Amino acid sequence: MIHSDVLIIGGGPAGASLSQFLKDRGISSIVIERFGKNRNKICAGGIPLAINALLPQRLQNFERVEYDSLEIFYKSRLTARSSKKVLFSYGVRRSDFDSYLRIGIDVRYYENFLNFEKTNNKILARTDKGTYSAKFLIGADGVGSKVSLLSGLAPKKRFIVAEEAEVPAEVRYKNTLKIFLGYNSIGYGWIFPKNGFLSVGSGSLKNRFRKGTVFSFYPGQYKAKIYPISLWGGEEILHKGRVALVGEAANLVDPFSAGGIYPAVLSSFLLSEVIVKSLKNGRTSLEEYEKLLCDKLYPNFRYALFLSRMFYPFLPFVKKYIVKSSTIDLALELTSKGYISYEEFYKKVRASKHIALKAAYFIIKKFFG
Ligand SMILES: Cc1cc2nc3c(=O)[nH]c(=O)nc-3n(C[C@H](O)[C@H](O)[C@H](O)COP(=O)(O)OP(=O)(O)OC[C@H]3O[C@@H](n4cnc5c(N)ncnc54)[C@H](O)[C@@H]3O)c2cc1C
Repeated sequence: MIHSDVLIIGGGPAGASLSQFLKDRGISSIVIERFGKNRNKICAGGIPLAINALLPQRLQNFERVEYDSLEIFYKSRLTARSSKKVLFSYGVRRSDFDSYLRIGIDVRYYENFLNFEKTNNKILARTDKGTYSAKFLIGADGVGSKVSLLSGLAPKKRFIVAEEAEVPAEVRYKNTLKIFLGYNSIGYGWIFPKNGFLSVGSGSLKNRFRKGTVFSFYPGQYKAKIYPISLWGGEEILHKGRVALVGEAANLVDPFSAGGIYPAVLSSFLLSEVIVKSLKNGRTSLEEYEKLLCDKLYPNFRYALFLSRMFYPFLPFVKKYIVKSSTIDLALELTSKGYISYEEFYKKVRASKHIALKAAYFIIKKFFG
C-alpha cells in the first residue's frame, strides 16, 4: 500500500495545481490520472489573466497566445467588435498547459481510480493498479467525477454539450477572438486562434445542442469531438469528512462563459490553504473550504448565472443592446483587470433603459429570484 498525505484523483488544471500548491507548503500528494502525459482535453483553452495572481511564480511562464480584440458575429454577419486593443485573455493548448502544470509533481499516469472507503483516521482508495492510503481524498476528476458519484457530493448538474476541433491553419490574426451568436439557441460558437491552428467550437445547454453547428460558421473538412461541460448552478456541498471536490468535479464552471480552468485552479488554491491548516492543527475538517468559496467565487458566479439567464434565451430581443462595440469594450475592460466582474456588468445592464433588457430582467427576477 502506498501512503500520501493527500490523494488527488485527476491531473487536469484542478488536480495538478492542487498538488503544486500543496508541494509549496511541504505537503506530499499523489495524483492519479487515467490518461497519459499528452492528453489533449477538448477545450478552447481561453484563460483569464487572473490565473497569474494564483499560480506560483515558477508556473507563470506557460506557452500562450494573448488576445486583445474581440469580434462578435450574429448569424454570419460581423455585428460588433472591440474598438481598442486591450489584453483580456490568454489562449493555451490544453495538452501543453496541463503538462506544464504537472512539472515536478508525482503523477501516476494510466491509472484509473475505482473506489474508496473510510476508516477511522484515513481513506483507502483503490485504482486498477493498487491501493493507496491518505489523510484526504480529493476529487479533481472533472465532469462525470467518480469521486462525486461515490461520495454523493455536488450531484446537481447543469450541462452544456459542446463540440470542438483543432483545425490546422495559417493564423494571421492571432490576437482576435471570434464569438458566433444566433447559430445555436442558449449557447455560442467560437474561434480561438493559437500558434498554427484554430480552436473552433460551439456549445449549448444540453437539450438545445445540435451536432454540426460549428460547420455552419466554420465550414471545412475536419472532425469535431463532442464533450459535456458541467456548469455551476448554485451552491452545493463540496466536502464530507476527509473527502472534497475541486474544479469541474464540483461543477465550478463559470455559468456565463462556461470557462472552467480558472475556477478549477482557484478552488484548488483555496482548498490547499484549508488542507494545510487542518494538517497543521491535526484536524480532519475541510469545512472552511466552502466558506472561502462563498467569499471568493460564488458572489461573482451568482451574477454570471443571472446574466446568462437574461442574455442567452432572450438574445434575439436583447442583442441590440448587448452586441455592440461599447458593451464589448466594457466587457473587455472588466476582463482585463483579471477576471470579469459580473457584478459591474450586471449594474450597467440594470441601468440601461433598453426596454427588452428591462423585460428580460423582470422575467428572470420573477422566476429565479
Ligand atoms: C469544448 C470545450 C471548450 C472549453 N473551453 C474552455 C475555455 O476556453 N476556457 C476554460 O476556462 N474552460 C473551457 N472549458 C472547460 C474546461 O475544459 C474544464 O472546465 C476544465 O478542464 C476543468 O478542469 P478540471 O481539472 O476540473 O477537470 P479536467 O480538466 O476534466 O481534468 C480531470 C482529469 O481527471 C482525470 N480522471 C477522470 N476520471 C478519472 C479516474 N476515474 N481515474 C483517474 N483519473 C481520472 C481525467 O482524465 C482528467 O485528466 C471547455 C470545455 C469544453 C468541453
